[in-house]
Amino acid sequence: MSKRIVILGSGESGVGAAVLAQAKGFDVFVSDKGAIKDKYKKQLAENNIPFEELQHTEEKIINASEVIKSPGIPDKADLVKKLRSLNIPVISEIEFAGRYTNAKKICITGSNGKTTTTLLTHHILQKAGYNVGLGGNVGKSFAYQVAKENHDYYVLELSSFQLDGMYDFKADVAVLLNITPDHLDRYEYKFENYALSKLRIAQNQTAADSFIYCADDEATLEYVNKVKPTGKMIPFSINKKLEGDAAYLENETQIIININQNQLIMTIDQLALQGKHNVYNAMAASIASRIVDVRKDVVRESMTDFVNAEHRLEFVATINGIEFINDSKATNVNSAWYALETMDKPVVWIAGGTDKGNDYTQLFELVKAKVKAIVCLGEDNSKIIEAFSGVVDVIVEAKTAKEAVAHSYQIGKKGDVVLLSPACASFDLFENYEDRGMQFKGAVRGL
Ligand code: ADP
Repeated sequence: MSKRIVILGSGESGVGAAVLAQAKGFDVFVSDKGAIKDKYKKQLAENNIPFEELQHTEEKIINASEVIKSPGIPDKADLVKKLRSLNIPVISEIEFAGRYTNAKKICITGSNGKTTTTLLTHHILQKAGYNVGLGGNVGKSFAYQVAKENHDYYVLELSSFQLDGMYDFKADVAVLLNITPDHLDRYEYKFENYALSKLRIAQNQTAADSFIYCADDEATLEYVNKVKPTGKMIPFSINKKLEGDAAYLENETQIIININQNQLIMTIDQLALQGKHNVYNAMAASIASRIVDVRKDVVRESMTDFVNAEHRLEFVATINGIEFINDSKATNVNSAWYALETMDKPVVWIAGGTDKGNDYTQLFELVKAKVKAIVCLGEDNSKIIEAFSGVVDVIVEAKTAKEAVAHSYQIGKKGDVVLLSPACASFDLFENYEDRGMQFKGAVRGL
């Protein structure tokens, strides 16, 4: 009898994994506790893959040889605990698909900047004419591409949840952007567990592989010292000059990238993406691209014409001299910090949503210096109001994006910027961060 592969969760990654498992001749079954989107049902049906939705039928699952679990399903789910107690391996789609490709894999993780850096790296490789796929948390699933397309390179955005289900997988080029507290609810509220999960990006590497990391990030340095990655270490920094293969900033304006004794120089005003955080992202993407031998002029050119995904410091409009920026993807304190840091005009700051155990004290200095008013956009705003009373004079509340935009427009003056950078998740008032960003943009355009 052929090996039985059961897939839990039928979203982009689950369906991709099912298609690949089917193509490899396994006995495949897909189970989703929720409703499966029509688009995915159609794909499963087209490939004759049996599935169920709105339930997990245990007897059809615990007879698996191996289970591929969606990153959205926590380890503490009863079914997952049961599978583990039965010694049935539970892996992620990335681990599974990695077995069936010899392509070079550039894998990117971090608490913030993953999508931006992944898209940027993919953009560079594409411009260089490489046959490159984009996957992981963005784009089509990696497994689907391994089944149906044949790329020589993949640029993969990996969350800690995906990394948790990865064991033998090896990244040829691993990028760790930063580690700041996030998703701690899935890590027994222990920062160490979350950080170690991020370091899995470097597992199984040999000296022929590369591990790119931020030398300015204390948490990264601490856990790099603990884990001692086995790939070639390539740091980047904006605070200090680094020797050997590395990237750093010179005279605060020039990015220097040294790889294999070959130097690439770019000035930061050439970057399409502005802000300190994007200097980091640009350094990481440039190092990764140079490691796989992309030409220097292609890297430089790609940096200037890159267009980022929506909801990340996205310019919306200027209305009566007031600029509106949508940074709805800033769902934690650290990303909001970088957004505020980037602002060079007085800020009306729209913040709030579902609190993830936020510590706002880190923002006090920036908020004091730059923010003239806060418009709270959450179901329960008490924590923000308490944190910033005495720091900011004007704090008002809104319950819809439209209301928040109207308040901001009223408070704002010519030369100000209205910044939606919530530092919180969106699930209290919105479907997700995209919905929050779209409603914000709609409201701005309706002014
Ligand atoms: P992720 O995929 O890790 O969530 P994104 O690229 O989607 O990261 O960016 C999420 C948010 O974090 C955005 O608001 C963005 O402005 C901010 N951000 C991007 N890069 C970084 C970085 N290197 N450090 C801190 N914040 C960042």
